[in-house]
Amino acid sequence: MHETAVAQSILDTILEHAGKLNAKPVRAVISCGQFNTLNDEAMQFAFETAAEGTVCEAMELVIRHIPLRARCVNCDRLFEFDIYTPACPECKSEHFDFQADAPLLLEEIEFENPNDKGGL
Ligand SMILES: [Zn+2]
Repeated sequence: MHETAVAQSILDTILEHAGKLNAKPVRAVISCGQFNTLNDEAMQFAFETAAEGTVCEAMELVIRHIPLRARCVNCDRLFEFDIYTPACPECKSEHFDFQADAPLLLEEIEFENPNDKGGL
């Protein structure tokens, strides 16, 4: 399953940072586009499973879905593509070019502040 591979690769990256900083990660934000999208539930489950027994266990994973954008050929407006109303919101033209889909990205990792626990 796609999510299992993604979860493992994200976990590896977080663990690498956690190891370098010697800190416990508490929250991570990932984003994905529309073509290569992630199923939230499957992703949360895959991540929890992969994180079991590591410092990432019980950390929060936030998944942001980046909308697909298109540019109208007629009026040059850039808009968020909506599958239910596939037309330019400005001139209603149905001629538009899709912009590049957002890649799967690990946007940020938050670590527990060691100062909260009296420092290292
Ligand atoms: Zn237009």
